[in-house]
Amino acid sequence: MWATLAQRSDVDVRRLFTDQGDPLPRRCDLFGLSLSWELDGPVLPELLQNQNIPIWAENRGDDDPIVFGGGPVLTANPEPLAPFFDAVLLGDGELLLGAFIDALQQCRNASRPERLRRLAMVEGVYVPSLYIPRYDATGTLIGVEPVDSDVPALVEKQTWRGNTLSHSTVVTPDAAWPDIHMVEVVRSCPELCRFCLASYLTLPFRTSSLDDGLIPAVEKGLKATRRLGLLGASVTQHPQFSDLLQWLNQDRFDDTRVSVSSVRAATVTPELGRILAKRGSRSLTIAIESGSERMREVVNKKLTTEAIHEAARHAKQGGLSGLKLYGMVGLPTETDADVEATADLLLTLKKGTPGLRFTLGVSTFVPKAQTPFQWQGVRPEAEKRLKRLAKRLKPKGIDFRPESYGWSVIQALLSRSDRRLAPVIAAVGEGRESMGGWKKTYRAALNGELEPMPGPELPNPPPWAEVTQESWDGKRTLPWCHLRGPLKPDRLRDHHDQALALAGDAE
Ligand code: SF4
Repeated sequence: MWATLAQRSDVDVRRLFTDQGDPLPRRCDLFGLSLSWELDGPVLPELLQNQNIPIWAENRGDDDPIVFGGGPVLTANPEPLAPFFDAVLLGDGELLLGAFIDALQQCRNASRPERLRRLAMVEGVYVPSLYIPRYDATGTLIGVEPVDSDVPALVEKQTWRGNTLSHSTVVTPDAAWPDIHMVEVVRSCPELCRFCLASYLTLPFRTSSLDDGLIPAVEKGLKATRRLGLLGASVTQHPQFSDLLQWLNQDRFDDTRVSVSSVRAATVTPELGRILAKRGSRSLTIAIESGSERMREVVNKKLTTEAIHEAARHAKQGGLSGLKLYGMVGLPTETDADVEATADLLLTLKKGTPGLRFTLGVSTFVPKAQTPFQWQGVRPEAEKRLKRLAKRLKPKGIDFRPESYGWSVIQALLSRSDRRLAPVIAAVGEGRESMGGWKKTYRAALNGELEPMPGPELPNPPPWAEVTQESWDGKRTLPWCHLRGPLKPDRLRDHHDQALALAGDAE
């Protein structure tokens, strides 16, 4: 984002580090941020306050910056954070940023309301203040409508279809991934696992051209560092991935460390293991979701138990010393038997490939907007299932890494709420660090005790469990009904129903 803006001669762009207390430049027209996961969102009010920007879009005047955002969280469901933003960019920055800045340049001396109206005309730019949520007498959401007929009723996510993708432009030892030059190999994933935001939200699956995209990007980065990260939801599915590996196998890259993000088990070959081991990787990561074949069928994982065993054998043959697996508990229709199957699989893998170190990371299923499982809730059974896995696997030498159940519930709250969550986010403050803090503030909202946000009065939010745990009826109006991702809601519902139809008599 920074590099795209920095390349324009009409924009002076600065990065802001929230933990450094950096001040804003003296004059700031635009203040933007990209959100990659739900739990980052709640820092926004504090961030704005620290910069002396009014936290509510409604309270900003002509001289305040236009606050805009993008990234997967805001593209999937911006509603809980919508009242803090003047504009949300839905989709790929390659397309949207240019159009957004161009539109603003054309009206930069106009009043704020006029500028916002102009922005709302740009495809993929959502201006929350120009849309009003409607509720029935019981407080149930029945629609989100534009304020008048000049504003588009539906905002569609924009999709970049060029033959290059992104790569790092700043490489520093102070980054979250120190000194690594990241190159995006693919965007989206064609597999359509029913819970997967990385696939559904970013469809279609796109690949960076080897000659025009990947090789130049790698060459550029390796002038600054000898650590390379190949990035994407499913990098080994790039049709020329083996060519890329062969190219990286040249002697001149002998001092380069290469790591890849999670790969599909079926694409793990001894050759992949060998080249990665030679280039300094010690382990590979594959997402299995569950050890139960039935569960994998339900989520559309298209992965056999034999393929997982084979991936382990190939990783070992190639010279890697570890295999990291990712799984989930609490998937729709999951039973205790499915969870036992996950533990059984890990133990058989360990026995079948002695010497290979196994790590199992397990998260709790969280419903994500714009995926087929958006209608499903977090299942409370997940908490004890995480404990069950720990009990079976830890004593047997499997490195078991569960993610917190409580934070999964908060993620679900942030991913499925509507605008009525915004006053909770504004009020939660330091309480956002604990589940108790969230629950207490939400209770205050239910009792009508929070300071209301400016603008039209909204009813109290729905009960906590209705947002986080309950399965929603297919006819329910979704908070993001006025925003369109790659697939229409009917298609998503078909995929949802197909998944549950495969569940058999599990429950
Ligand atoms: S294979 Fe991985 S990235 Fe692809 S849809 Fe499934 S979970 Fe998502």
